[in-house]
Amino acid sequence: MIRIFRKIPCKLVYRSEYMTGIHAQNTHRSFDVMRFKKIRDQLIREKLIRHSHILKAPRITDEDLLLVHTREYLNSLRNPLTVGKILNLDYVNPWDEYILEYFRYVSGGTLLATEYALEHKTAVFNLGGGYHHAHPDRGEGFCLINDVAIAIRKMQALQKLNRSLIVDLDYHQGNGNLLYFQNDENIFTFSMHADNWNEVSNKTHNIDIELPAHTQDKLYLDVLTKELPGVFSIFSPDLVFYIAGSDPYIQDSLGDFDLTEKGMLERDKFVYQQIRKHEIPLVILGAGGYGPESWKIYFNFIKWVIKEG
Ligand SMILES: [Zn+2]
Repeated sequence: MIRIFRKIPCKLVYRSEYMTGIHAQNTHRSFDVMRFKKIRDQLIREKLIRHSHILKAPRITDEDLLLVHTREYLNSLRNPLTVGKILNLDYVNPWDEYILEYFRYVSGGTLLATEYALEHKTAVFNLGGGYHHAHPDRGEGFCLINDVAIAIRKMQALQKLNRSLIVDLDYHQGNGNLLYFQNDENIFTFSMHADNWNEVSNKTHNIDIELPAHTQDKLYLDVLTKELPGVFSIFSPDLVFYIAGSDPYIQDSLGDFDLTEKGMLERDKFVYQQIRKHEIPLVILGAGGYGPESWKIYFNFIKWVIKEG
């Protein structure tokens, strides 16, 4: 039987190297390195996508990394001891240098997603990325490379992008982007997060909202629906990056927010609709999400976009 797939309203970026991230037999047992593969496999199993809907992430070049990061910092990442320290691994082995390879592919994926979204004026999910804690000269919070900052600088250099909005709903504050774009009027940063990173900034194009532990669906969605729409009346982005961390989910093994699976989908639907109703190209990034249930949050979102978005 020949099955005809209809055109879907988004693309996905993925490749098998996305599974070589921080391995599970160390301090970070909460990392599910298979989470993005599980999403891809389930989408194919349910015949929501086919392989041709998946763009293969390229390995990012040194030249592109240097658009944001210092050469000294990048050189330091060749040492597994340095990488192990940034990632807070409880032991270091020579294989940890492959963790940098993981960041190279996923950051290449964010770059590809950005190019594609701009060119086709559509939404693209990178099944990874959103490393919002990385700074030009140092990494922190599991983030070695700031993929969003690189994608913005690359597209600006190619004169394909001017103004970007970063909507960061990961459980943790997007402090890396906040500081990096502090004096950049072309970048608006919007972040709703817990209090474990709380960089203070006088950035004008910024909304930074701290929420208490055990925040539930109602409070979270009330704040989001009140605060996000106003951004579009004062700022007109050419592209939006949605850092869609699943770590506000109640089952997350690191975060302490209490959002339900339904609440998480409501969050994602609202953000998607706000952006796409203005027909703004959109790049959606996986960011943080820990524990065996994390993958379902992204899957629910992508499934909704394909069926109803
Ligand atoms: Zn996070």
